Amino acid sequence: MMYFVEVIVPLALDPTFTYQVSEAEFNYLQPGMRVVVPFGKSKVYTAVITEKHHRVPQLYEAKEIHEIIDVVPVITQQQIALWQWIADYYMCTLGEVYKSAVPSRLLLESETLIQFNSKAVVRTEDLTDTEYLVYEAMQTQAVLKVDEIIAVLNRKKVFPVIHSLLEKGIISLQEEMVEKYKPKQVRYVRITEEYLRDEGLEKMMQLVSRAAKQRELLLKFFQLQATQKTPISTKQLAEETESSQAVINALVEKGVLETYYQNEDRVVFNEASRNNISLTADQNSVLQEIKQLFTQKDIVLLHGVTASGKTEIYIKLIEQFLTQEGQILFLLPEIGISTQLVARLTDYFGNQVAVYHSKYSHNERLEVWHHVLNNSESAKIIIGTRLSVFLPFQNLKLVVVDEEHESNYKQHDPSPRYNARDSAVVLAMQNKAKVIMGSATPSLESYYNATQGKYGLVKLTRRYSNVQLPEIVLIDLKEKYKRKQMTGHFSDTLIEAVSNALTLKEQVIIFQNRRGFSPVVECMTCGAVPECPHCDVSLTYHKYRNELRCHYCGYTLPMPKQCFRCHSVDLNTKGFGTEQVEEELKTIFPDKNIARMDQDTTRGKYSYEKLIEAFENKKIDILVGTQMLSKGFDFDNVNLVGIMNADNSLYHPDFRAHERAYQMMTQIAGRAGRQEKKGKVYIQTFNPYHNIIQQVTNYDYAGMYKEQMYERHNFKYPPFYRLIRLTMRHRDFDKLREASFWMYNNLREQLKIPVLGPEEPAINRIRNQYIRVILIKIPQNKPLNLTKKDIKRILKSFESIGAYRSVKVTANVDFY
Ligand code: ADP
Ligand code: ZN
Ligand code: ZN
Repeated sequence: MMYFVEVIVPLALDPTFTYQVSEAEFNYLQPGMRVVVPFGKSKVYTAVITEKHHRVPQLYEAKEIHEIIDVVPVITQQQIALWQWIADYYMCTLGEVYKSAVPSRLLLESETLIQFNSKAVVRTEDLTDTEYLVYEAMQTQAVLKVDEIIAVLNRKKVFPVIHSLLEKGIISLQEEMVEKYKPKQVRYVRITEEYLRDEGLEKMMQLVSRAAKQRELLLKFFQLQATQKTPISTKQLAEETESSQAVINALVEKGVLETYYQNEDRVVFNEASRNNISLTADQNSVLQEIKQLFTQKDIVLLHGVTASGKTEIYIKLIEQFLTQEGQILFLLPEIGISTQLVARLTDYFGNQVAVYHSKYSHNERLEVWHHVLNNSESAKIIIGTRLSVFLPFQNLKLVVVDEEHESNYKQHDPSPRYNARDSAVVLAMQNKAKVIMGSATPSLESYYNATQGKYGLVKLTRRYSNVQLPEIVLIDLKEKYKRKQMTGHFSDTLIEAVSNALTLKEQVIIFQNRRGFSPVVECMTCGAVPECPHCDVSLTYHKYRNELRCHYCGYTLPMPKQCFRCHSVDLNTKGFGTEQVEEELKTIFPDKNIARMDQDTTRGKYSYEKLIEAFENKKIDILVGTQMLSKGFDFDNVNLVGIMNADNSLYHPDFRAHERAYQMMTQIAGRAGRQEKKGKVYIQTFNPYHNIIQQVTNYDYAGMYKEQMYERHNFKYPPFYRLIRLTMRHRDFDKLREASFWMYNNLREQLKIPVLGPEEPAINRIRNQYIRVILIKIPQNKPLNLTKKDIKRILKSFESIGAYRSVKVTANVDFY
């Protein structure tokens, strides 16, 4: 009898591969364990076993595995089932899902880069002979490929050595080029060991008998310690006693207090503080409704206006599901807002909270993975971005999808192009867990599901403590320009409002959905506009660096002094971005602190956190930003929000443009007046009578929904039709054209459903690759799976055509 295992290899190849094992190995191995397999001529990969069997493969001779990595499975059956669903649904391979689902440390392969850890303290006598050989090799070359280690050791089995060196911290995987996420450090204070002893208190009081400020501070410390179970930060202590850090420092010098640092999002609390949240009557009845609905439905949509306290409701639900050893997944669209949320949840649940996202280092991710796999106490509640649907849950009971309308839940590139919200629903079904989705501006898809009875629906229509929703005031730019009441891009009305808010010591948010200084530089003599040589777009002027930049490929060019075509020096800029708004504000309010939050100012995660922290601490008076600012922030001192230009979001050639514009403006407006005072929002627009703008102004979600659904129905868009977009790319315009027509004709003839294209998109060339898109619209009454099978078949025959071999095709299912 022959023994085989079926494995997934982390490559874009279909489907699984068969390898031969010995009888002993066969008996030992289980699905979910990892093995190292040779692949192709000389590559090795970490593969995961899906099945053991005795079927001899027909098409190729099975190779033998190189080695076994695990003693117990590290991938669960349920995870593989989810991967399979994602691969089928989003039309990609299991290998692609595997590769993005699993932390890189579990996924070593030939090409993986191993880095020597220069800070490690190494006692060479503790190393085995093979470990020493690798260590030695890394003294001369600090970065090695796994392949090179194989060569150094001159043997196939190298993964155990690499893993043990990783464990010992002597080597690490080379991190991606992105700046590493640096969690915010908080400085805490405690009584020193010495003064905790018996006579400590007496001694301490003597020591401060003549220092009133210090005495007061110590008393406050004891008082806080008695009432709040969480560590006391120096900031809190100083604030509550209205004294300066110097008083704390003096006590530290006397040896009474000591300070220590902890990462804010990984704080280890002795015990959660249970900041007794008591729900308002509205919130409570919504909570009861949700619980009631959960007896009949698996998914409930919470449509609650901004600042209605959705988070408090999630907390109460989590509390309920936490009993019975349950695990909770709390999904966020973007990690930027996690700081505030993590603080709120740890306040309540202490160290049961863990955070998981792609900006964490490999080690940190692996740590959370293992905690979840072991259903450990320190990872009962996982706060994470879309990646966290791939964690090895053991007993998942509840998934919270906050801001469910966010397009960030959908991955664009690379494959798998999955939507984490929808995948989370499948994950929950597999685990018999419940799903609560929340938003102030639900996606049409989810709202439709709710109206169809597929999801339960609950509504919170009032803000917490009955603060009214901000009043939205429209400013007609046409009028303002005509009457010359504009300063730069600001109307007099908006300037006056900002200046009033600042007088009241309130903070202001100004929104402009475009970064850079101005998107277009134009020659006033001949009209030429500098464009990116690699993409079909004009370059954006960034004044700060005095350069032109392509927002699609990153190409930059120093700002020219003359027109490239006619050499005229009369160059002008058109349109405006956040940089220009910031600059204008600095001229209008020269002695205020003005900061900007967009992709350019938040490249490293650290800068993002710093900005938010500075704004929370009121070190910034006016924050200018792009749609980054719309993502669920809860700032307590903002009552005024200004939207510079509502129009550019309305005219995108995208069927979701109007829905998005509504969501974005409503969410931005939602940042105003969240605490006590009714906020005010000014929207500058050339189209004050546009339906979407009217709907935003009147908080008319129902009106927006009705109108947009009508359009979606008429023009055959989701949720009435499923969309699959095929994107085809090639350097050669004519070849691409021909290939795309082949594809289009075949799809149309064989599928017999609406197929559009092959269209040249608005930006039809990126990084020197021409682009064509084909849109397939699948009606509700057509079986989805069969249609996808047909499409896959057509893609296969396309691939087999020699002339088109080099044309790249990607499929994006439910594309956003
Ligand atoms: P949403 O998520 O709906 O936008 P939040 O949950 O952020 O709203 O709530 C808005 C603000 O109101 C927050 O500062 C929150 O702490 C406060 N809040 C809401 N509900 C309560 C409650 N029941 N008790 C105390 N504070 C609350
Ligand atoms: Zn010119
Ligand atoms: Zn470019």
